[in-house]
Amino acid sequence: MADNRVVQGRMVTPKRLAELIEGESVMDAEPIEDADRDCPDCGENVLKVGYMPGVTSFVTGYKCQECDWAEIEDDD
Ligand SMILES: [Zn+2]
Repeated sequence: MADNRVVQGRMVTPKRLAELIEGESVMDAEPIEDADRDCPDCGENVLKVGYMPGVTSFVTGYKCQECDWAEIEDDD
């Protein structure tokens, strides 16, 4: 399974993708998955990554592969 994916023309690791969504550094990230949804802005594929922005929290982030659209879902 390839861990790295191309997002907006750049190869990113799960942690780097989480950082793009979060806007700052994150502690840890799970492997990138395809989300079962299309980008509401451009209709392209949306990726999903679970990550820990801090020691006590875990969230799921979504990011369009082709544009700036991103969303964070709190799992709590
Ligand atoms: Zn998009």
